[in-house]
Amino acid sequence: MQEKTSGQETLRFAPSPNGWLHLGHAYSALFAWEMAAALHGRFLLRIEDIDTGRCRPEFEAAIYEDLAWLGIDWEQPVRRQSEHFADYEQALKNLRDMEVVYPCFATRKEIQDAIIASGVPLQNWPRDPDGALLYPGIYKDIPRAKLNKLMWEGRTYAWRLDIAKALQLAEARTGALITFREEGESAGGEPKRLPVKPELFGDVVIARKDVPTSYHLAVTVDDALQGVTLVTRGQDLFPATYIHRILQVLLDLPEPRYHHHGLIRDEEGRRLSKSAKDMGLRELRAAGHSPADIRRMVGL
Ligand code: GLU
Repeated sequence: MQEKTSGQETLRFAPSPNGWLHLGHAYSALFAWEMAAALHGRFLLRIEDIDTGRCRPEFEAAIYEDLAWLGIDWEQPVRRQSEHFADYEQALKNLRDMEVVYPCFATRKEIQDAIIASGVPLQNWPRDPDGALLYPGIYKDIPRAKLNKLMWEGRTYAWRLDIAKALQLAEARTGALITFREEGESAGGEPKRLPVKPELFGDVVIARKDVPTSYHLAVTVDDALQGVTLVTRGQDLFPATYIHRILQVLLDLPEPRYHHHGLIRDEEGRRLSKSAKDMGLRELRAAGHSPADIRRMVGL
C-alpha cells in the first residue's frame, strides 16, 4: 500500500478515461507539469478509472498519446485507481469504525420521491456544488432491524458520509476549524487558508453501490499515498476540497496545498465538456494544429 515519497514537491494530473481530452484538460495537464518543473518537483499522471462502467481502454490510451504529443512526460508506473480498490476499502473501513458513514440503499427515484413527498418542488430543493440533489436523509438512522432486513434482502447500498458528525469529529481531532491552504485565484493572488463548507454537499456518497469508493475517497487516499504536496486542478473542483480536507483529518493523512486554476471556456463562456468536439485535442490535431498552437489557445 505504501508508495515511495521524497522531500520534493510532487504534483499530479489525474484525468478520468471516460472521454477524449479537450483544451481544458490540456491546460490542466500543462499547468501541473510546468509548475512541477518550475519547483524542480515530480510530476505524476494518475488514471482515475473507478467508474468501470464509463471508463474505456481507448480513452486511457488516448490520454497517454495526447499528453505525449503535447510534450508532457511523467513518472512510471502510472497509478490506475481500478487496481487499488483494496486501499480505498481499507480507508472506508476506517471511516466505518469511526461511525461517520452509514449505508444508504436509496435509488435516485426514491430520493426524488422523498423530496416530492416533503412538499418542496424538486426545482426548489437545494443541490450540491456538483448539481446533485442534497440527500434528504432517508435511510439515515434507520433501526438496526430494518437495516438487517434490507441487507438480508440483498439490496445494494452506497456509503454516505454523515457530514455533521464527520466535521465535528475532524474539528475535535484538530481542536480547530478545518481549513485548507489555497494558492489559486480564490485566494486573491496570495496564498490563504480558507474555511471548509462541507454542508454544501450534505451527506455525500463516499463509496458507491458498484465500487467500494467514490471520487472523493479515492482522490484523497491517492494524493496521500503518492505523496502529492501541491494539488492543482480546475476551479470546478474547488468545493470538493471541503470534503477532501475532512477525510484527510479523519484518516490521518498529510495535508497538501491546493491551487485551483481557472477553467477554459468556449466562445459562449461555457465550461468545456467531454462532448465539446471542436475543442477536442484529437480534432485540433487532425485539423493541423501544433502543440505550440494548443499552448497559445489556452493562454500558456
Ligand atoms: N479525475 C478528476 C477529473 O477528471 C480530477 C481529479 C482531481 O484532479 O482531483 O475531473
